[in-house]
Amino acid sequence: MTPLPLRPDLRGATPYGAPQLDVAVRLNTNENSHPLPARLLSDIAAAIGTAAAGLNRYPDREASALRADLARYLAHGLTAEQVWAANGSNEVIQQLLQAFGGAGRSSLGFTPTYSMHPIISAGTGTTFVDGRREADFALTAAHVTAQIRDHRPDVVFLCSPNNPTGTALDLDVVMAAYDATAGMVVVDEAYAEFARPGTPSALTLLPGRPRLVVTRTMSKAFGMAGLRLGYLAADPAVVDSVRLVRLPYHLSTLTQVTARVALTHAPALLDTVAAVTGQRDRIVAGLAAYGLTSVPSDANFVLFGGMPDAQVLWQALLEHGVLVRDVGLPGWLRVTVGTESEVSAFFDALDGIVALSDHAVSDLAPPAADRS
Ligand SMILES: *Cc1c(COP(=O)(O)O)cnc(C)c1O
Repeated sequence: MTPLPLRPDLRGATPYGAPQLDVAVRLNTNENSHPLPARLLSDIAAAIGTAAAGLNRYPDREASALRADLARYLAHGLTAEQVWAANGSNEVIQQLLQAFGGAGRSSLGFTPTYSMHPIISAGTGTTFVDGRREADFALTAAHVTAQIRDHRPDVVFLCSPNNPTGTALDLDVVMAAYDATAGMVVVDEAYAEFARPGTPSALTLLPGRPRLVVTRTMSKAFGMAGLRLGYLAADPAVVDSVRLVRLPYHLSTLTQVTARVALTHAPALLDTVAAVTGQRDRIVAGLAAYGLTSVPSDANFVLFGGMPDAQVLWQALLEHGVLVRDVGLPGWLRVTVGTESEVSAFFDALDGIVALSDHAVSDLAPPAADRS
């Protein structure tokens, strides 16, 4: 059979593929497990009912009202001209790479980091360079600067808090990266709302830095992964640049309306953040009782290690009805922080695995003490 005339640089590539399995406890894609407030749901239904009458027309191409609402939510003195929105921050990143990356250009990320940065780079013909982290997954200003000088990328990705490790970056690393490159610096802050108190946002660095971009999403803390709404804050010239590559009317009327309603409920939606961070601390404390280790997390997930075989434990947890994420990092797994009962189910599954004394997980210690 003659192969399709696929772009040579895409041959042999594999698509993004976090398993979407029908499992009782899904802790693998960092969604917010908490149900959305009933009042938000009825407000969304009403607003969509009204907006539906206008669906014969294209949506506002500039999403002006939504961008003004997002700017107000972000605060930091931002205006609608400095904010851009798209279908998830993944599309925002794609538009950034279409505008600032592309054929003959490169992007640099610091592995392990968000798996979509290399995948979207590949899709846009941008060469992704796998930068390095320290042994404990930390990034220092000196290390980042040296790698930028070596590779001279057109786009630098910093992820803070970083997925899958969970830790937020010090702003001196962002400033050092900015000063070391003539390219764009994209700080992916998908998990910013979960950061430990006192963790500063790169939004504070935007004034005077026209090549700096901060991306955010409504998929995580806002609990609206199904909505597909991501956004960026940057200099207005960055927004004008992504306008050159965005598809006209990329953000549907229903998406814009729903996102605007959700923003009016922001305080209620963000109420779940405290519950999530509380359960995050419970996971970290509870894992130690099994002899497992974890990385300090500013996010709604925990990267944990110390098991004899991560893939075997992943499978055993699945057989106990709990789906976590194998991020392809040997010796580590990532668990999303769910509701209190989901976290209990995660520990019950670990208890069940220990009790089975499966040879491959037998190094797991039984819980040393009551963890509730
Ligand atoms: C989940 C996640 C996103 C969110 O992507 P959306 O397209 O907005 O759902 C972005 N960046 C990182 C690092 C993530 O983990």
